[in-house]
Amino acid sequence: MQIIDILKSKKVALSFEVFPPKKIEALESIKKTAVELTALNPDFISVTFGAGGTTQGYTADIAQSIEENGTKALAHLTCVRSTNEDLHNIIKNLKEKKISNVLALRGDFPKNAAEGENIFPSGMTHASDLTSLLKKEGFCVGGACYPEGHPESGSRELDIENLKHKVDAGVDFLTTQMFFDNDMLYSFLYRLQSAGIHVPVLAGIMPITNANQVSRMVDLSNAYIPRKLLAICDRFRNSPQAMMQAGIAYATDQIIDLISNGVRGIHIYTMNKPEIAKAIISNVNEIIKTIND
Ligand code: FAD
Repeated sequence: MQIIDILKSKKVALSFEVFPPKKIEALESIKKTAVELTALNPDFISVTFGAGGTTQGYTADIAQSIEENGTKALAHLTCVRSTNEDLHNIIKNLKEKKISNVLALRGDFPKNAAEGENIFPSGMTHASDLTSLLKKEGFCVGGACYPEGHPESGSRELDIENLKHKVDAGVDFLTTQMFFDNDMLYSFLYRLQSAGIHVPVLAGIMPITNANQVSRMVDLSNAYIPRKLLAICDRFRNSPQAMMQAGIAYATDQIIDLISNGVRGIHIYTMNKPEIAKAIISNVNEIIKTIND
């Protein structure tokens, strides 16, 4: 079964995300983390890909461990700084490991690119190009989307037009960038419908469990931080346990509101922290079970 079949068959699907380690010594421990997450029965676990980095091969290894433990894996793949040969080898490796679901991404522009460097040696300059290749290779393909607009896109309207190209290239489902104000997602979903984009959308929830995360997340995603979340960070900045509890409660509240409003997919950016995933799941498992029964 591919992820698109799971998304079509469930009223609410739930997924987690892990990222590969920078060094091989940590690979086994991340695989263990991924296996701990499978015990929480998500519909799938996605594994990120270090664009242009040295740890790219670990994505498929971790995805394989997840599948060996009975949970679907979604392997991320980026086209930035990859040659056609690199992409061909990665695809071959994924097929050998029987990974059939891939999140097709462009990747961020590398900060350390030399002047004049061709950062798209395969000629693939957008995720839609990679999507076409992966569809030809028979994968179920996911894509990224941005409720508040991708930082480079200039306008939200243009971003949606570009997203439509990606969906027309064959993307089966979308996962959103993190957002902290659910109204941003609702208005985005409305704009998707108006643009004729009808593929399933998983809402990306990032639990903020450390106050310093907020500025990093804003840099990364440009997300609007509501006053309520800023107050939590200000109040509990120096109390790690209280901050964690409040961050889990905030993420839980977002998820309950999303499900109550009919959103059918929740993707939790679990950040290699099974304890946070566990706490959130224990807050929402009856809710999800009731909807899916
Ligand atoms: P694209 O869809 O190619 O879009 C990039 C920009 O180009 C946008 O501004 C878009 O509007 C514009 N655009 C798209 N198509 C066209 C077109 N045909 N003509 C003109 N403009 C166009 N990064 C990693 O390195 N590894 C990961 O594992 C990873 N996982 C992610 C998972 C999710 C759910 C998300 C939301 C992001 C992830 N990222 C990851 C970050 C992502 O690589 C960056 O956000 C990147 O800047 C854009 O990638 P994309 O796939 O959305 O690109």
